Amino acid sequence: MFVVDAHTHIVDEGWMPKKWWDELAKIYVHALGEMGIPINVDQVKSQIFPNFYDPDGSKLIREMDAAGIDVSVICPLDYGLALGDPKTPIEEQNQIFAEIQKKYPKRIIAFVSVDPRRPDAEKIVRNGLEDLGLKGLKLHPASGFYPNESCVYKLLSVAREFNVPVLFHTGQIVQPLRSKFCNPIYLDDVLIDFPELTVQAAHMSFGWRHELFHMGATKINLVVDFSGWQLIARSNFKTFCEALRECIDEFGASRVLFGTDGPYLRAAMPDKDFVEMVKNLPKKAPEGIKFTEKEIEQIMGGNAKRIYKL
Ligand SMILES: [Zn+2]
Repeated sequence: MFVVDAHTHIVDEGWMPKKWWDELAKIYVHALGEMGIPINVDQVKSQIFPNFYDPDGSKLIREMDAAGIDVSVICPLDYGLALGDPKTPIEEQNQIFAEIQKKYPKRIIAFVSVDPRRPDAEKIVRNGLEDLGLKGLKLHPASGFYPNESCVYKLLSVAREFNVPVLFHTGQIVQPLRSKFCNPIYLDDVLIDFPELTVQAAHMSFGWRHELFHMGATKINLVVDFSGWQLIARSNFKTFCEALRECIDEFGASRVLFGTDGPYLRAAMPDKDFVEMVKNLPKKAPEGIKFTEKEIEQIMGGNAKRIYKL
């Protein structure tokens, strides 16, 4: 089966704001504490976080090989205006992503990303798509902007010009980022005002999934990925299956994409296990929920092949 991870990340310490790592460490302390594993912030930073650092993408390629993932879509993240600029500016991160795409042309698709409120945002996106050869645009409203703001529309116009998909984070997000900007309802304007664009809503919008699913049924230029659902799939498999089934029923199997959102979730579920879990859904879904082999083939890679022109 041809498998595409339609939404993942690689990260290095200097690519993210210090505040991001500080807050993420607290979340790990809390989550591991709940699991009966006592750990402190310094231990998380020195023992857990270094496992995530992958500045040349080689860890991701190893993880893909182990999981049987043929192609991954990787996106930089620009939280600088929200949390303080990281050591490596976003322009430079986009260049690094382009280099990794060049190094693994058959395995990696890289997107350009920038906070649209940056004065040079339009230039960065144009440079990314035109000169660096990046193949899509990733936007993260949780930094503090709504998808239907005029600064975003300027970037969407560039994406339209280059005929590339646009991936928006949707759904509730960890501290210290703001969830309210990530309600999928704000994509409604985007879908109407840019009917030629393929818009990918990430994470099935988590707690706003029902709102998203009904938008999927009514707006045909919207596609969806279910990256980031590993924790729910592990702790409540039935809820995951019900959500995915509803997603497919509303969107149609041709607009649903598999994704991992790694590396932060790999500790909870390695990519290999998530791939296996989804591949096995036709055989192992809970009673009363059905998935066909054809649906799974579409979701795991067939749709991505079409959308990303692989
Ligand atoms: Zn993501």
